Amino acid sequence: AYVIAEPCIGTKDNSCVEVCPVDCIHPTPDEPDYDKVEMLFIDPDECIDCDACVEACPVDACFAEDQLPEEWASFAERNAAYFAGR
Ligand code: SF4
Repeated sequence: AYVIAEPCIGTKDNSCVEVCPVDCIHPTPDEPDYDKVEMLFIDPDECIDCDACVEACPVDACFAEDQLPEEWASFAERNAAYFAGR
C-alpha cells in the first residue's frame, strides 16, 4: 500500500483525494473528523498501488511503502492506525 508522510502535515491539499480511483484517502473534506486531524491518510486495506496520488500531491507526501524515506518510516503505521479506529 501507499503511505502519506510528513509533508502532508499542515498541507492537506486534497489533490490525492480527487484522483484516487478507490477513494481510500481519508478524511475527505466532507467527513466530520476532517478538521480534527493534521494530515490525510491512505487505507492500506483499500489502496490498489496505482501511483496516482504520487503525481497529484503538490508536496510529494505520497510514497509506495517500499520507497518511504527512512525518517518517515513511522508513517506507515500511522496511516494504518487511523483506519483501525474507524
Ligand atoms: Fe489511491 Fe492509488 Fe494512491 Fe493507493 S496509490 S492511495 S489507490 S491514488
